[in-house]
Amino acid sequence: MKHTFTAVLLVQVAVLAHADTFTAPHVRVEYVGLDEEHVEAIAGVVSAAWQVYVDDFAANLPGTVITDARCARQPTRLFTDGHDHIFLTLSSTQKLAPPAKSGVFNVYGLCHELGHMMMYRLLEDRDWMTTAAAEGWAHYAGSVVIDSVHAAKGDSLWCYPYDYSSDGTARLERQLAGIQPSEVERGAGAWRELERIIDHGGFARLFRAWQAADIDPTEPTDALLAAATGAFPAKAVALKTWWKDAAPLLVEPVKASTTKAVRVSSRLLTGQPLVLAFDDDASEGKRSIAGGGHARKFTAPGNDWYLRAVSLYGARYGRPRESSKFDIALCDAEMQRIALWKKPYTTFERGQLGWERIELPPTKVPREFYICFDFHPTATKGVYVAYDDSTSGNSLVATPGKPGAPLREGDWMIRVELDQLKTADALSGE
Ligand SMILES: [Zn+2]
Repeated sequence: MKHTFTAVLLVQVAVLAHADTFTAPHVRVEYVGLDEEHVEAIAGVVSAAWQVYVDDFAANLPGTVITDARCARQPTRLFTDGHDHIFLTLSSTQKLAPPAKSGVFNVYGLCHELGHMMMYRLLEDRDWMTTAAAEGWAHYAGSVVIDSVHAAKGDSLWCYPYDYSSDGTARLERQLAGIQPSEVERGAGAWRELERIIDHGGFARLFRAWQAADIDPTEPTDALLAAATGAFPAKAVALKTWWKDAAPLLVEPVKASTTKAVRVSSRLLTGQPLVLAFDDDASEGKRSIAGGGHARKFTAPGNDWYLRAVSLYGARYGRPRESSKFDIALCDAEMQRIALWKKPYTTFERGQLGWERIELPPTKVPREFYICFDFHPTATKGVYVAYDDSTSGNSLVATPGKPGAPLREGDWMIRVELDQLKTADALSGE
């Protein structure tokens, strides 16, 4: 199931606020345009799957999963904010029919999204992770969980009863036995192999260990294995063997720049920074992009300049957790990462667009460089970044180390402050 979204969808969700509510253990369904029998089925699946994730996978799912279910004239889709919400939109109630008739795997899909939620709540920093790993995990976990849900609740849990256990591990096994399994299916297969070593209950411990290890995404492979064997010392040999096959599928290091980060003490700088600002202080629009960052290119006036601060014109939406952070990266002209800083989400105010200035440890910039903000936005938290059309051609929708796409509407409203060494300041007379 796709679980991407756009800010447009968020706005629609907010507008259609008059939802009815249905509750079941550990789930609250907020719904529009659906009958009670449909909503009861959706709530029943989420509730039963919640129990399996908590009992078998030791998942730390939220006490209540909020499921936003709407039948509206919109494409059918399903995704999670990775924290405590699932969003299901159906173009018609016929899409709730069994997959053989509707082509939509609703029961499996809900189990799949809870799998994402389990992983993302435990493993927030995972820039090293491939799509095959993330989607493969949700595919694997969703397949295992749907089997247990069916064993506990039977065909009649769904509003159009059918044997949904055929959408579980039986289907996964069939896919893996096929001539050419997809990357995501192979990813699911890698997690299933790991299950043989650490069991269902071990995944939560593993994800916690990876989060705690503060993995450098530019060199993650050995550190991930070390954290895994640290969490399961008795399984070290089996884990090493598994990792040999699994790592190429699950891990994609973020490319680092060949330019090394050079820092200096602020005492060595003039303290009178040069501000590079090319916008007219008025925005033509704003965007928040799932899976994308906001990168703007700058050219330093010479060779020995140091980044002191960045400013961004934007506004926060949603309810970030206290601990939520976003990334600011200094990248070279090829968008390869030189340095990265994590800052608290609360830096940005909710509501009105405004400038936020963030000081950074003085770091040398190449002649041409990018400043990239990555807010890791979800449907329930993010930062809208404003753009201005006074200039264009200097901005990308991109995250460090990955090829991005040009921003067509203009340039992101990002400014930088650069300073130089006192010894380089001819006016000081030295
Ligand atoms: Zn997914």
